[in-house]
Amino acid sequence: MQAVKLVGPHTMELQDVAVPELGPDDVLVKVAGAGLCHSDLHVLHMGEEWPFFGGTVGHEGAGWVESTGSDVDGFEKGDAVLVSVVWACGHCRACVEGRDNACEVNGSRAMFPTTPGLGPDGAMAEYMVVKARHLDKIGDLDPVAAAPLADAGVTPMHAINSARDRLTPGSTAVVIAVGGLGHMGLQILKATTGARIVAIDNDETKLELARELGADVVLKSDSEAAQKVLDLTNGYGADAVFDFVGVQPTVTLATQIIAPEGALRFVGLGGGSFTYASDSSTETLPWGVNVQRSYGGTRADQLQVIALAQQGKLEVEVKRYPLADFQQAFDDLEAGKVTGRAVLVP
Ligand SMILES: [Zn+2]
Ligand SMILES: [Zn+2]
Repeated sequence: MQAVKLVGPHTMELQDVAVPELGPDDVLVKVAGAGLCHSDLHVLHMGEEWPFFGGTVGHEGAGWVESTGSDVDGFEKGDAVLVSVVWACGHCRACVEGRDNACEVNGSRAMFPTTPGLGPDGAMAEYMVVKARHLDKIGDLDPVAAAPLADAGVTPMHAINSARDRLTPGSTAVVIAVGGLGHMGLQILKATTGARIVAIDNDETKLELARELGADVVLKSDSEAAQKVLDLTNGYGADAVFDFVGVQPTVTLATQIIAPEGALRFVGLGGGSFTYASDSSTETLPWGVNVQRSYGGTRADQLQVIALAQQGKLEVEVKRYPLADFQQAFDDLEAGKVTGRAVLVP
C-alpha cells in the first residue's frame, strides 16, 4: 500500500509499504480521507529535533473497517469510523476522570499525548491500524468529509467546552482566524451557545465564509481590530477568545480584547507569547482571566462533534487531493490557499 512518510527534516515521501499486521484488539481501517493540519507543517519544519522520522503522517483520519483483531467486538467490515486524535490509555486517573487528552501514561509535561501521525503511523495511507477503543462510528456521514472532525472539529469543541461558563447568552466570543479549526469552532459556537460571535481574519474569502457560517460580526485583522472589539463591548472586552493561530500578532490581539474573568484559549501553535505578572505591574491581562493552551480533545468531545455533524449543524469545507498529490496539498496549505480543510483521498 502507499503511505506518506516523514523521512527527514522538511521531507515527506510517498512510499510503498506492507499493509500492517493486526494485534488482537486492533482494527484495520481502509482510509477514506486524511486531513492536513498546520501542526503537520510545524513538525515538518522542526528539524532534527523531531523524534519520529519514518512514521506515516496524518492525525485526522476516517474510513471504513476492513478487518478486526480476534478480541474486537462491535465493529464489522464496512462500518464508517472516525479515528480519535488522542490515543490515551483509558485507565489512568486522568482518563477515568474524562481528561483523556491529559493522560498520565501516554502523555507527560514535556510531550503531548500519543497521537496517530505524530508518532504511531497515521492516516495518510491506504490503510491504518487503530485500537478499537480509538474509533467511533459515524453512520451515514461521508468519511472523506468527516476526517477533519477528528482534530479540526474535536480540538475547537474541547476548547469551547472548557469555556462554556463564559459563553452564556449575551456574551461575546471571538474566533481569531477562520481556517481549518476556526471555521469549525465558529459553527460549534453557533450551534451550541448563545454568544454573539465575532470572527477575525486577514483574508476576505475566509471572512465571507465566516459570514455564511453565522458569524454575527466579521472584522479584518488589522491594527484597529482590538479597538473594534472593545467598541462592540462598550470597552469591556470579549468573554471568550479562541486564537486558532497563536502567532505574536494574534496572541497580542487576544490579550488586548479579553474581558475580566474571560476565557482565553490558545489553540494554534504559532509560538507567540505574552508576559504574565501576578500583580498589576503589567497590564497584559485584566483580573481573573483564565488561560489555557488547548490540545486535542476527549472521546466525549468527539462524540459531540459527530452528533453535531449528523444533525447538519457542523459541516467541513473540504478541498480534496489524491494521496499522490500530498506535496501540492501541503504547499497550498503553507501558502494559505486552502479555504476550510485539505483532505488527502487514497
Ligand atoms: Zn492538528
Ligand atoms: Zn490515561
